[in-house]
Amino acid sequence: MSTTISHWVNNKAYPGTSSNTAPVTNPATGEVTGEVSLANIEDARAVIDAAAAAFPAWRDTSLAKRTAVLFKFRELLEARKPELAAIITAEHGKVLSDALGEISRGQEVAEFACGIPHLLKGGFTENASTKVDVFSIRQPLGPVGIISPFNFPAMVPMWFFPIAIAAGNTVVLKPSEKDPSASLWLAELWKEAGLPEGVFNVLQGDKLAVDELLTNKAIKSISFVGSTPIAQYVYATGTAAGKRVQALGGAKNHAIVLPDADLDLAADAMVNAGFGSAGERCMAISACVAVGPIADDLVAKITERATTIKTGDGTKNSDMGPLVTKAHRDKVKSYVDAGEKDGATIVLDGRTVEADGSADGFWLGPTLIDNVTTDMSVYTDEIFGPVLSVVRVDTYDEALELINSNQYGNGTAIFTNDGGAARRFQNEVEVGMVGINVPIPVPMAYYSFGGWKNSLFGDTHAHGMEGVNFFTRGKAITSRWLDPSHGGLNLGFPQNA
Ligand code: NAD
Repeated sequence: MSTTISHWVNNKAYPGTSSNTAPVTNPATGEVTGEVSLANIEDARAVIDAAAAAFPAWRDTSLAKRTAVLFKFRELLEARKPELAAIITAEHGKVLSDALGEISRGQEVAEFACGIPHLLKGGFTENASTKVDVFSIRQPLGPVGIISPFNFPAMVPMWFFPIAIAAGNTVVLKPSEKDPSASLWLAELWKEAGLPEGVFNVLQGDKLAVDELLTNKAIKSISFVGSTPIAQYVYATGTAAGKRVQALGGAKNHAIVLPDADLDLAADAMVNAGFGSAGERCMAISACVAVGPIADDLVAKITERATTIKTGDGTKNSDMGPLVTKAHRDKVKSYVDAGEKDGATIVLDGRTVEADGSADGFWLGPTLIDNVTTDMSVYTDEIFGPVLSVVRVDTYDEALELINSNQYGNGTAIFTNDGGAARRFQNEVEVGMVGINVPIPVPMAYYSFGGWKNSLFGDTHAHGMEGVNFFTRGKAITSRWLDPSHGGLNLGFPQNA
């Protein structure tokens, strides 16, 4: 049965006036389960107007009251996350345990945001000049826009909105049209937690909705996560309209395995980071760089492990689910075809997988490709599927050069038992998030998440103190309470006194 997935305004579902919709599919069955509304300009403006109207009262709500709502939101999420995981699996396809993991990583940001009174504390200098005090405060921006990708329908929005709301902003979230229902469940949760009307709103839609967020004067900032071409467009358009923008883009994450590494642990890590969530993670390892004589052993160990992965319906105890849409599955498959044609060795072929699920699901099994060279499309492009390429090099320097000359710089990892080599790598590699014997080094909520180069447009990463700064503006106040000693005219520039 197909349901309509609408916008959310003022703590209730809002159907809007547009008759445009897009189908939402269960990737494990191929069945269309819903139709998501695609906003027209009037719908987009109605949602933005609600966020703007709610801002003055929310910004003036005390920190004590705001944090009470945040604590409640966190408690409800902790208690009810299996409900949200089921929604994510039904529209995204990832296995339930992975969906729960994504929620927990988002929840961490809500927990961080519960400490907002401490995070917003300013500085105070008494008697900077005689009887003159100087202090600093941070204030919210206004209504802010969040535009998220399909691959983390709960975690990525939660990288931003708990901090934005805690800091006193109001939010318009534009989720991916591929898996939009998680946003509405989160909106209901905010309502139950006591968030006032208009503080958290959801705008469903496509480019038209995004463009309105980017150009509407009421929206003060944009937090975007998605593919690199769109991130670049969002950054250029949003900043041209005078907004602050953080736009996180795509990735091609390399893991270097040095000859002294523990190959069993490295092989486990390659399989987990290459095939977890069917490779649809911006921190997935898609290029394994085998250094020196270990390549044959490493490929054998990865193959042995990857062969045991059970691909199937995410609700049925599988290790790996389907890809998000048929079109995406076909695109990923075409990269495997191209790699084969280009002369790489297909060691494990996911194209022939027998999945535990409906014949109409969007399946592709774990695929391992060896002897990949840097001119092949399977190496140059972000594939975003369960395809792990092995590139063989002779030295650490060659491996480092591969990473530093890549257009992306999101995540990377090194596997070694040599502390000196690891330390050299952390210093020399041009990537925003680095793992040392850790394949997916996603920083905790109190640090900030973000890449370098074409993986981030703007200069501010997500969450942590960078998130707090992004969602607030600093103000420095110089204050003097007048007394008779302050009289007299002096037109000179104030100096030390
Ligand atoms: P996408 O770029 O297709 O879509 C992201 C958002 O942009 C969606 O809300 C979508 O509706 C909107 N959008 C799509 N086309 C648009 C257009 N022409 N104009 C305006 N808006 C448009 O990305 P996706 O396929 O949903 O997600 C996968 C991508 O996201 C991958 O490239 C992945 O690496 C990246 N990603 C990056 C990070 C990170 O932290 N760097 C995290 C997660 C995902």
